Amino acid sequence: MENENTSKNFIEMIIDKDLSEGRFDHVQTRFPPEPNGYLHIGHAKSILLNYGLSKKYNGKFNMRFDDTNPTKEKVEFVESIKEDIKWLGAEWEDRLFFASDYFPKMYEAAVKLIKKGKAYVCDLTADEIREYRGTLTEPGKESPYRNRTVEENLELFENMKNGKYADGEKVLRAKIDMASPNINMRDPIIYRVAHMTHHRTGDTWCIYPMYDFAHPIEDALEGITHSICTLEFEDHRPLYDWVVNELEFENPPRQVEFAKLYLTNVVTGKRYIKKLVEDGIVDGWDDPRLVSIAALRRRGFTPESIKMFVDLVGVSKSNSSVDYAMLEYCIREDLKSKTKRVMAVLDPVKLVIDNYPEDQVEYFEMINNPENEEMGTRKVPFSKELYIEREDFMEEPPKKYFRLFPGNEVRLMNAYFVTCTGCEKDADGNVTVVHATYDPETRNGNGFTGRKVKGTIHWVSTAKAVQVEARLFENIVDEEKGKLNEDGTLNLNPNSKTVVNNCYVEENINEAKPGDKFQFVRNGYFCVDTKDTTDDKLVFNRIVSLKSSFKLPK
Ligand code: ATP
Ligand code: MG
Repeated sequence: MENENTSKNFIEMIIDKDLSEGRFDHVQTRFPPEPNGYLHIGHAKSILLNYGLSKKYNGKFNMRFDDTNPTKEKVEFVESIKEDIKWLGAEWEDRLFFASDYFPKMYEAAVKLIKKGKAYVCDLTADEIREYRGTLTEPGKESPYRNRTVEENLELFENMKNGKYADGEKVLRAKIDMASPNINMRDPIIYRVAHMTHHRTGDTWCIYPMYDFAHPIEDALEGITHSICTLEFEDHRPLYDWVVNELEFENPPRQVEFAKLYLTNVVTGKRYIKKLVEDGIVDGWDDPRLVSIAALRRRGFTPESIKMFVDLVGVSKSNSSVDYAMLEYCIREDLKSKTKRVMAVLDPVKLVIDNYPEDQVEYFEMINNPENEEMGTRKVPFSKELYIEREDFMEEPPKKYFRLFPGNEVRLMNAYFVTCTGCEKDADGNVTVVHATYDPETRNGNGFTGRKVKGTIHWVSTAKAVQVEARLFENIVDEEKGKLNEDGTLNLNPNSKTVVNNCYVEENINEAKPGDKFQFVRNGYFCVDTKDTTDDKLVFNRIVSLKSSFKLPK
């Protein structure tokens, strides 16, 4: 039997210990996005981690919008986040929460701290507060307002709530320790005045709680046991603990930090994605070159592939970047036995088989997926004129080129052997038509054993082909030269998107619907675009090519 511990990550070890020592008798996790953008692959990791733990320990999973900062929050984002989480397969059942619903309780909590002498209203300006805070090497200075009486603080805080002050005029601060080596503990601000309209509470409030105060309260109110967040909050944990302890919550939650997921060659981080969207460099939050969840879905990634990826990456305590190729590996693995394989020519040139009867169309039966017999077979039309890939013909081939060149015989996939007899060119020397002859004996080329050929190429009958648009993608940033330019802007790859308008696919593709995925043999996995496909025209996104240099880490 497998040793249980070796397969457990450090968070599971912490949970096991808490359960066995009786700190908690159940597990309850949450995913707490701020609705200020679309979710990305990093969030997927957090969602699947939190949801996965709740499942593993037979616990509960809360979905909570951390909507305590109205400046950047929008209903559009709330809806997209819900859709993305559902798509990933995490189920919150009836546990959907909004931090803004706790505003009255957070206000009460602040009053409680004031009454305990643990919070005070401070009139210093933002700049002064920063000056008084000190540095990593110097302790801070106490605010002259620190010793206001409880009564005075209660009155001033109520005035803050009632709109008596302008933004920034007064704040409520926790009274902790201005000499603490941890700057987060030097009387942090817990409430600020902000005359802003909130997307859910409207103008009810003109004071809003700060994240470090609000978050532990949200967790505690919901009975969260393990509040899992990313590493940058490690230094905030003493404040988290201070808040839940001073507010005397029973069974307070425990904050546990893990490393953020970063990927090479792509842009993670809401801030950067947002900028690309706002600057019109990409076609919205779901542009297939992005790694927002909406973009991954549109590109053709599956929830299964993302889960596989997140599992492979694992959970760790140190920041590092994962190779994008690993995500590509996961989608190939997932689609391998799930998708039909069809022939599509992305860069067409005509092949004419001169000894094949004019006007004849015959059908070859082809296996849809050799790795999954259940996917059955289909009939593919063949005729005198075909499209083949331009790169599958060369007039003067280099060594080891086994495809079409004058005098050479190749296999047309699942059809006949053909021998190249030459080509036609236009005035500029571009090849316009390739000529060949076929050998009727070699019908169903794959089974023919009379003689061998070294090359096999795919083809599509010109008479029956369906013309589609294909979009081919490269990394949106140039990782080799660094993701960022010297001025902090993104170092964009100008070739990140290529649109191929005259791509030809076998006629079976006509049944494809938006979101359907296929393997175009030799060319990669493709997904029918859900946004730009119309009744008249199929648009495909290349999810990933077939070739990979990626090796699974041992
Ligand atoms: P970003 O850094 O992209 O702006 P964020 O942390 O501001 O993201 P939130 O909406 O606050 O986004 O995040 C919700 C949850 O997702 C948090 O618990 C956060 O720690 C987690 N999370 C965010 N980015 C990542 C990431 N790259 N890897 C793992 N978890 C992440
Ligand atoms: Mg955030």
